[in-house]
Amino acid sequence: MRKTQESSARYQNFIGGEWVPPTTGTWAPNVNPANHDDIVGEFPVSAQKDVEFAIQAAKAAFPAWSGTPAPARGRILQKAVELFRQRLDEIARTLTREEGKTLPEAKGEILKGINLFEFYAGEGFRIHGKTLPSEMRQTFTYTLRQPLGVVGLITPWNFPFAIPAWKSAPALVTGNTVVMKPASNTPATARLIAEILHEAGLPKGVFNLVTGPGGAVGNAIVDHPDVKAISFTGSNAIGLALNERAAKRGLKVTAEMGGKNALVVLGDADLELAVTGIIQGAFGSTGQRCTATSRVVLERSIAKKVTEEIVARASKLRVGDGLMDGIDMGPAVDAHQLKTDLDYIRIAQEEGAELLCGGRRLTGGAYDKGYFVEPTVFTGVKTSMRIHREEIFGPVVAILEVSDFEEALAVANDSPFGLATSIYTRDANLAMKYVERAEVGMVHVNNPTVGGEAQLPFGGWKSTGIGEREMAEEGAEFFTQLKTVFFDYTGQARTSKIY
Ligand code: NAP
Repeated sequence: MRKTQESSARYQNFIGGEWVPPTTGTWAPNVNPANHDDIVGEFPVSAQKDVEFAIQAAKAAFPAWSGTPAPARGRILQKAVELFRQRLDEIARTLTREEGKTLPEAKGEILKGINLFEFYAGEGFRIHGKTLPSEMRQTFTYTLRQPLGVVGLITPWNFPFAIPAWKSAPALVTGNTVVMKPASNTPATARLIAEILHEAGLPKGVFNLVTGPGGAVGNAIVDHPDVKAISFTGSNAIGLALNERAAKRGLKVTAEMGGKNALVVLGDADLELAVTGIIQGAFGSTGQRCTATSRVVLERSIAKKVTEEIVARASKLRVGDGLMDGIDMGPAVDAHQLKTDLDYIRIAQEEGAELLCGGRRLTGGAYDKGYFVEPTVFTGVKTSMRIHREEIFGPVVAILEVSDFEEALAVANDSPFGLATSIYTRDANLAMKYVERAEVGMVHVNNPTVGGEAQLPFGGWKSTGIGEREMAEEGAEFFTQLKTVFFDYTGQARTSKIY
């Protein structure tokens, strides 16, 4: 029978295969950002002791789990895939209630996460090293990929299903045991993941979930000597501090952080396609995506026309509670993010950018119960302005005009971040030159800046990313360590030179 807690609005941590209360005896409400009257549940405000229990449970589970054949580990993930599909609607509603994105966006995210579990279930058959020729006769030399042990996963709120999926699935299939700390804004989706992985047959202690504040719970995971690696996604401020802290004890870290993604439209582009891509990239998920289109770089010949069309479409977007039909854009995730959005809108105007539409918090009626911001478009943006250089993480797009391809490329590359970019053009030569010279981890041609697929590496250059790529085969490699084997089958002492 499924172990569920739907009868109670007060939830627990998941440690050693059991739902257990936090040692602090404290819970925090998880409030719907579209409707403050809707409390999704109360979630543990955990502390260092809870993390200690979770790590001990994960450590105890490691020998048996790492000794389980990888295809068998994959089959448990495959079973979870079936269960996630069966409970898609329930997970999506939970996700929308706690994060705010629209129900169709939530379903899209969950389906992507399910693809990741499915991909990594198959990886159970493919975890491989290499065989390579030895310098010595009758010597078989090869490499093995082996699990690390207990790994810590620290995830943000903006993809509460997909990011835990793209971290936990590769960690588990490669034989590690997991302690996960989800963002404090989105513990409910993480709880469902824990519940379903358990129901799919994951042995006790293999996956543990501890909710609570980043400072206490996150640091306790990073500092614990039994944790062998940290996979973090979140802001640059937290990611860089975490990396520094982890480096003090030589801990392996991957940190995927912020973006400031540019979308370039050249004069020969299919403008309808480009504007559709801009609207999707800038305002989808309320702009709260690391890959969101936050800078639009337009060749001057088409700038006026494209700008007018962006404004016309942005102004028509219906903003509201993502659980309702016909809503295009949900709220900011919390009061802090709402303030950040509004602060940057003010800063942009103070720095001389021209506000073309939006720019305000939506108020009145149901809007007063949530954190709603208008889709906002600025033009006349200069590369020196903060809305060009800093991540906002909201529905705010900055338009810059350029005279040609070279200037467009220079503007797009003029950023401390290097996550994703797009170019819209019909000129294949220019598209290829852009692909070659763009300083980012992911390039799209005639396609929005957003998106990723399970089998394709995901991540950024420059200050966006530290460590290996996530998703795909590369995402699993992070959770393994390499062993080189020299197998001498001569049965005699060597007479030849040994290197
Ligand atoms: P965040 O504030 O950095 O938080 C990320 C996670 O770190 C949360 O679980 C947070 O816990 C935890 N945390 C906070 N302080 C910590 C500490 N001292 N030690 C360890 N963990 C700590 O980021 P966010 O606001 O959730 O997410 C938005 C950011 O994520 C944006 O910058 C976005 O670009 C980035 N992002 C990047 C990617 C990518 O792949 N490049 C994908 C998605 C999002 P609490 O919630 O309890 O504070």
